[in-house]
Amino acid sequence: MNFATELLHGIAPDKLTGSTTLPIYQTAAYSQATAEDFKAGFVYTRVGNPTTANFERRIANLERGAGAVAFSSGMAAISAAILNVVESGDEIISSGGLFGGTSNFFRELKSFGVCVRYVKENRVENFSDLLTNRTKLIYAETIGNPKLDVTDICALAELAHKNNLPLCIDSTVTTPYLVRPIELGADVVIHSTSKMINGGGNSIGGIVITGKNFHWDAEKFPKLAEYEKFGAISYLVRLRAKMLTDFGGCPAPMNIFLTNVGLDTLALRMERVCDNALTLAKFLSEQKTIRVNYPGLEENSYHELAKKQFSNRFGAMLTLRFETKERAFRFINALNYTLRASNIGDVRTLAIHPASTIYFNVAAHEKEFAGVTEDLIRVNVGIEDISDLIDDFGRALSKI
Ligand SMILES: *Cc1c(COP(=O)(O)O)cnc(C)c1O
Repeated sequence: MNFATELLHGIAPDKLTGSTTLPIYQTAAYSQATAEDFKAGFVYTRVGNPTTANFERRIANLERGAGAVAFSSGMAAISAAILNVVESGDEIISSGGLFGGTSNFFRELKSFGVCVRYVKENRVENFSDLLTNRTKLIYAETIGNPKLDVTDICALAELAHKNNLPLCIDSTVTTPYLVRPIELGADVVIHSTSKMINGGGNSIGGIVITGKNFHWDAEKFPKLAEYEKFGAISYLVRLRAKMLTDFGGCPAPMNIFLTNVGLDTLALRMERVCDNALTLAKFLSEQKTIRVNYPGLEENSYHELAKKQFSNRFGAMLTLRFETKERAFRFINALNYTLRASNIGDVRTLAIHPASTIYFNVAAHEKEFAGVTEDLIRVNVGIEDISDLIDDFGRALSKI
């Protein structure tokens, strides 16, 4: 089965009724026939819900993972994925081109005694330079939001595994349509499903998917000692038993339903936004008054890697630099169809000035690592007719 077919037919209709769409179990608790029955099955929606379980299986299959746990947001998924194994005294090595919320969370980790070391340029040898005997995990985004640096997942997985470390990849921007990080060696994959997986921008959500090839050594990861009997899925079992259940960031069944409906059209939308973004990036790069960053452009330093890793498609995100913040603001205000909104992965084209919004609270050096400058605009390209987008961007450029 190819991707779009698997997306629609990988999960069978509801066994109980034949319902072709996912039933919504809008319930807090599940009554049991006997007192003994509480040991198995669904008990309480914070711990598990059939609507959510179905969605988790669907995403885990698409990602070729062993299993998945869904959360109430991408940030809930990221914080749970990290805190599931990391403890005071540990270090994380991370790519610099991180989503602002993740940078903020990583800074918050200091108060838990966890240090995050950032790689300035996303090259595997730079990660290697930061390894210490306290390193517990390597973290990166497939395509950094909004730096647009591309992680060489195979090479980074090799480095991680040589040092008995898990590789954790945020694949929000790429989705399984462009890459399946687990197939390239990643051990933990995260999505903010609020973005491209939902597509319509109608719900916040997150999910963590795990592979089954990493050896979670209980000595190195003492939090997993209690779960050792689960072997390769000990991390996954603990993620649900402790991080979801104790921290409580469970998704609402209705949001899972909406996200699951959006997921049906992922292949179509991804095809369209990748085509639109490349055409728009090429058009804009011919205009001499701004600088365009998009991995699909041949002059981009990550182009060859992106081309190989993502099968010649490059995602919906591009960034533009205007030399000054004033010009950037004039441009963003002159856009007609493009919404000024803090989101990506939406079917509508969106634009934002990251430095004054998402990165408002981020320290200057972290902003620099993240590639966030005062003159930068991030654009999420939607599924509109490309001729209208080119008109809109062309007209706005003529006004600055
Ligand atoms: C949006 C985003 C997140 C956070 O997800 P929320 O659902 O907003 O909590 C994490 N990583 C990336 C790359 C994102 O774009």
